[in-house]
Amino acid sequence: MNYIVTIDGPSSSGKSTLAKLLAKKLLISHIDSGSIYRAVTLYALENKFLSNNKILLEKLVNSLSNSDISLKENRDGIFKMYVNNEDVEDKIRGSKVSKHVSEVAKYEEIREFVLRIQRDISKNKSIVMDGRDIGSFVFPNADVKFYIDASIKTRSERRYNQLKEKEKHLSIREVENDLLSRDNIDKTRKKSPLIIPKNSLIINNVNRTIDDVLNQMLEYTKSIINKKMP
Ligand code: C5P
Repeated sequence: MNYIVTIDGPSSSGKSTLAKLLAKKLLISHIDSGSIYRAVTLYALENKFLSNNKILLEKLVNSLSNSDISLKENRDGIFKMYVNNEDVEDKIRGSKVSKHVSEVAKYEEIREFVLRIQRDISKNKSIVMDGRDIGSFVFPNADVKFYIDASIKTRSERRYNQLKEKEKHLSIREVENDLLSRDNIDKTRKKSPLIIPKNSLIINNVNRTIDDVLNQMLEYTKSIINKKMP
């Protein structure tokens, strides 16, 4: 029998790293739902549907329906984001996409487009999916739910360390401001805002090692799944 594990939380809380490792330990697939919103944002920027925070929503949505935005599984069982057959994994992680993604993700039409991809890819398999609304909206009946959090200081440092090699002009203050602004948009939007989903295990991972948190998540998941599927 298949099962679903959801991991929600704010940007750079560590949830994608933990989701990837947890899925590996459980031998199931990991889907990073933020990468789909990032690919849509990249598509909007590259095709001039978005500039200076002005979005041509109707045109973007029409164009998206004629494009191929998809997650493809590679030989190692890892899902990578593609836009019209181009591997965009690197491009979607940069600060330009990060800066605009929450603005794009707040529209209902965009969320519906992404929801279809999320549900299609999860059919007939066990998955760990991370994002902002996975346990609350995308899979409210998921078997196991987590909410991962960390302080803004820790999150800014993590994100800055990820980006500083490639984007030398960035300052930690800029990164912190970007995270705060995304938190604000993600938590206050009308359609499926970031909340702590019902029945989720809340983990604050400040001052904890990845292994320590991962073990806690693994034990918790196994205890629930073993009861459901003895
Ligand atoms: O997780 P990541 O930082 O890559 O997500 C990028 C953005 O996509 C988030 O800031 C959020 O605005 C949006 N997102 C969302 N719902 C999700 C996943 C991501 O709104 N389930």
